[in-house]
Amino acid sequence: MPGEIIMEINEKCVGCGNCHAVCPMGAISLNTEGISVVDQDKCVECSTCYRVLRDEGYGAAFVRAVRSVLSAFHLQYMAAVDVCPTGALVQPELEYPRSLRAAFSDPTVVHAGTGVGGRGTEEIKTNDVTGRLGHGEAGIVVELGRPGVGAHFRDVQTVAMALASLEPEYEPFNPVTQLMEDTKTGKMKEEVLDEKVLSAIIEAKTRLERIPEYLSILQAVQKEIDTVFSVGVASRCLPDGSVPHQKWVEEAGYTLSPNGKTNLGLGRPLYGGD
Ligand code: SF4
Ligand code: SF4
Repeated sequence: MPGEIIMEINEKCVGCGNCHAVCPMGAISLNTEGISVVDQDKCVECSTCYRVLRDEGYGAAFVRAVRSVLSAFHLQYMAAVDVCPTGALVQPELEYPRSLRAAFSDPTVVHAGTGVGGRGTEEIKTNDVTGRLGHGEAGIVVELGRPGVGAHFRDVQTVAMALASLEPEYEPFNPVTQLMEDTKTGKMKEEVLDEKVLSAIIEAKTRLERIPEYLSILQAVQKEIDTVFSVGVASRCLPDGSVPHQKWVEEAGYTLSPNGKTNLGLGRPLYGGD
C-alpha cells in the first residue's frame, strides 16, 4: 500500500533482541547483518513491541561503539529487558485492510464498527446487560486463533460458511459479521481474506435444540483450517439457576467446562429485560 507504514524496525536497530521476546507471534528475527526485521505476514500489528519497550534514547553509533570496545575485553553489552535502546521500532500508520490486524489484535484500538476495544465485541457472555439471547435461544461463539498462532480471515470465512448452512443469525454488533459480504453464506469481503489477526470471534444465535448440529459442523470443519479455535455455548439461565444449553451440549457428546461463566445480571440492562 503506497505511503502506508506497517510495524517496522529501522536502521537504528542494534540487534539486542528485546523485541523478539515480547512479540506474541514470533514475527521478529535477526537478519544476516545483525538487524532485526519484522515478518510482515506473521505480524498482526498488535503493537506490543512498540508499546512495551521504552525508547532508551541512545544513538545506534554510540551503542555499537560501546559494544565493540567491550567485546575487545570479552565483555558484552546487554540492554535492560524493557527497552529498545535506540528507539528503532516505528509506530505504524495503517491503511485498510491491513488496519484490521490492529483492530482485532491491539487492545488499545477501538473497533470503528462497534465502538468496542480488544477484539471489537462485548460477546454473548454480557447477555445480562445486552439481552442478545432470549429464552429458548442459544449463542454459539467460535474464537479462532491464539497468541503464537493467529488466524487468517480466510480460515474465519471457512468456519462461517460451514455454519451458514444451518442458517444462524449472525450477531450484527460483531466485527466479524461486519466483514461479511453476505451473512446468508458467511462469505467475507475478498480484500480481507489474507489479513491475519491474533484472534477473531464469530458469534451466532440459534435455537437451543439445534446446538448438536452446530457442534457437529464445527467438529468437521476443524480439519479444513490452518489455526485453532475454541467454542463457547451460551444461554439464559432459568429461575432455578439451571443452564438450559447443558442438556443439548451433552447430547452432542460434550461436557460443559467447569470454568464456565455465569453472569448474575448485576449490570444495568440496556434492553427492556424480563
Ligand atoms: S529492541 Fe530495538 S534495538 Fe533491540 S532488536 Fe528490537 S528494534 Fe533492534
Ligand atoms: S506489532 Fe505485534 S506481532 Fe507485529 S512485530 Fe510487533 S509485537 Fe510482533
